[in-house]
Amino acid sequence: MITGGTKLLGVIGAPVTHSLSPVLQNAALRAAGLDYVYVALPVRRDALPSAVAGLRDAGFCGWNVTVPFKTEIIPLLDELDEDARRIGAVNTVVVRADGGLAGYNTDAAGFLAGFAACGISLRGAHAAVLGAGGAARAVLWGLLKAGAARIDIGVRSPRKGAALCADFAADGGVRALHFADDAFAACLRTADVIVQTTPLGMAPHVAEMPPVDWAAVHPAALAYDLIYTPAETRFLREAARYGHRTINGETMLAAQGAEAFFLWTGVRPDAGLMRQALRDALA
Ligand code: NAP
Repeated sequence: MITGGTKLLGVIGAPVTHSLSPVLQNAALRAAGLDYVYVALPVRRDALPSAVAGLRDAGFCGWNVTVPFKTEIIPLLDELDEDARRIGAVNTVVVRADGGLAGYNTDAAGFLAGFAACGISLRGAHAAVLGAGGAARAVLWGLLKAGAARIDIGVRSPRKGAALCADFAADGGVRALHFADDAFAACLRTADVIVQTTPLGMAPHVAEMPPVDWAAVHPAALAYDLIYTPAETRFLREAARYGHRTINGETMLAAQGAEAFFLWTGVRPDAGLMRQALRDALA
């Protein structure tokens, strides 16, 4: 039951009605017996500063941040954790006891949870990443933090890919190549993991996938698609047909939410329950 003492959490975005976070977070809060409620908060695109000040002043404990505010919110915060700083985006805000706002990004941790769930270590691994957008930044930083030795990014826009690589050049061997470049095809022959971060194959465009010739991919490579609708994309279906192990985006989505939950409450939620709540909502 919501009472005058119930603590407040939410997600800000524009639009935000499609967000699955209220389902995930409220399921986990209920299961943990915590007196919090989590709501979706549509914020006008030109009203971010007043919305952020309003949430803090209205006593919110914290909130998630989604499109289009993940980068725009940074100047409004008092501190950033390393992941948010390196990814250049914030998806979670915690209101400190002194009223200051701390920004975090839980996407890299969420991404890595997919490997942890399968007992896979990335130390020394060679990774191929498809796409160089916002999600790819979290993937890249996650791979580097986990000890990947070499990362090749396949892009359609080498200029954008080069900018992404430049941001991480000091952290390890990262380079961007055009999808159609023979050198990228050669990378796919040796990569231990192939991470798909483009929207290609996301519902309703389920017949799409980035250009990967599975017959030429290293037979032991693991295929990871960040998409969670559908649960099995064409990219993952074809990978499985060629005998590759696969991971879809559900674990990442649930795990990034679980990390945010921990930052707000200090309690580790039941990640399996969050994933099930997500599956039920998507079904
Ligand atoms: P984004 O910032 O728009 O980046 C998309 C990337 O895909 C860009 O590099 C873009 O290339 C490339 N791309 C788009 N259409 C393409 C096409 N037709 N051919 C080749 N490349 C194409 O999007 P995002 O935020 O990174 O999200 C990407 C996907 O990840 C979405 O499906 C999203 O749902 C998923 N995601 C999942 C999670 C999770 O928790 N599971 C979290 C975040 C994102 P250009 O740079 O040339 O435009």
